[in-house]
Amino acid sequence: MSGRKKLFIDGRWLEALNYENLKSPYSEETIAEIPHAAIEETEAAIAAADRAAKVMAEMTCHQRAEILDNVTSLLAKRAEEAARLIAVEAAKPLAMARAEVQRTIMTYKFSSEEARRIHGEQIAIDAAPGGENRTAYTIREPLGAVGAITPFNFPMNLVAHKVGPAIAAGNSVVLKPASQTPLSSLFAAGLFAEAGLPAGALNVVTGSGKTVGDQIVTDPRIKAVTFTGSPEVGKEIRRRSGLKRLTLELGSNSALIVDRDVDIDEIMARCVASSFSFQGQVCISLQRIYVHEEIYDEFVNKFVETTQKLTVGDPLDERTDLSAMISRKDVERALSWIAEAKQNGAAIAAGGTAERNIVLPTVLLGVDPKTKVSCQEAFAPIVLINKVKSVEEAVNDVNDSRFGLQAGIYTANMHHAFYAAKKLQVGGVMLNDTPSFRVDQMPYGGVKDSGTGREGVKYAAQEMTEMKLIVINHNITHARP
Ligand code: NAP
Repeated sequence: MSGRKKLFIDGRWLEALNYENLKSPYSEETIAEIPHAAIEETEAAIAAADRAAKVMAEMTCHQRAEILDNVTSLLAKRAEEAARLIAVEAAKPLAMARAEVQRTIMTYKFSSEEARRIHGEQIAIDAAPGGENRTAYTIREPLGAVGAITPFNFPMNLVAHKVGPAIAAGNSVVLKPASQTPLSSLFAAGLFAEAGLPAGALNVVTGSGKTVGDQIVTDPRIKAVTFTGSPEVGKEIRRRSGLKRLTLELGSNSALIVDRDVDIDEIMARCVASSFSFQGQVCISLQRIYVHEEIYDEFVNKFVETTQKLTVGDPLDERTDLSAMISRKDVERALSWIAEAKQNGAAIAAGGTAERNIVLPTVLLGVDPKTKVSCQEAFAPIVLINKVKSVEEAVNDVNDSRFGLQAGIYTANMHHAFYAAKKLQVGGVMLNDTPSFRVDQMPYGGVKDSGTGREGVKYAAQEMTEMKLIVINHNITHARP
């Protein structure tokens, strides 16, 4: 994994003009030298994708599906190597990195299946007067070159969520991964090359979002941008991308409601894991918990007790549950947000400090909803547990947010479950689970500042196609009298 990496453009590995050192977030040692793509290099990638878009559009569904099948098998063979790559570049504990690789395999598998079944529909055109004696149907055509910009937190699977559906639908891709996690994307490019993808159909340009990312977003040859990342960058991309097709998968401050009638022991491990997996740097990480007052004290005691059993340390150590934050800046930010919550009356029931660049799993009680740990996206191992009198009050608290990705409720009361399902302002409601549930074929995306559009392979593939209508007029026979 170490050494000097190359750009992947037009099916070839190219030495770059400029390089930057990539450091491990945990050890802070240099792990590789990464190309910082220049304007000419990004231009070459976009031009290659533009040319390859025509080749991809001519390919049959079964050819595209076969390439994706090949990627699936190649990745399955190299799963352990891939997991170690993620662990090193992102400081993701190995068990979670392995889980990410298994999910990536599923995402490519679903993509190959989707490639085989992309279809339009027949329209009942004679349902309207004037439509008599006509047949109508739609087809789904690829958009062309797609710009994919990805975050650091699932460097392999979130790349698969863009590249898989794009290829399935017959597009080409220019991929710009997060600066901290380029190795997974370069690894994926190697798999696609070996799997038989035509030259130029996937290009990987590493470098800064502000320059390389912006060049992709603003180039007229890029027909669609699919972005996963922070709301701030998402808004900037919306401003800069003009009339391009745009999918924005952004952040959240996800919440869970715990009703009075649940078995606390049954849900505890899941609640704690949802709060602290990958140091809370997950877009659906559990950040706010609203617990019914009748069981609040018991819930808090058990939550703190379970949290204190978590092991912090080296991501490559099999026993580690929680490791370093992605950057020092994020450690400082997390600590300052905890301090702000404390100043505003919150109690720290666990954690609240850092050991080097590991923020200890932190549990806050009685948090003022106006403080950052409540109303902004923490993206750190911080969870708040507040007391509520009813499910209605909890739903109002959950909705009192600029975000709306997913939310969850544990309850044995069917009426409360359906009330929450109806009233929660989010893209997905998990009944009897935390908001952190995701498998890769389900529709996934948010409302409010959590974004627009949906991923989940079928839905992403749909967003990366254009619907075309074809109407046949049977009144014209061209028969000469
Ligand atoms: P980020 O800072 O927004 O970066 C995401 C990507 O955008 C990176 O590749 C970044 O490049 C690039 N970028 C930065 N500025 C840009 C610009 N002006 N134009 C074009 N691209 C630009 O996000 P992150 O810190 O990597 O990831 C964390 C965020 O992602 C959180 O908010 C999290 O909730 C969100 N997320 C959402 C989902 C979802 O499905 N809803 C899933 C995972 C993560 P550089 O790295 O070079 O800056």
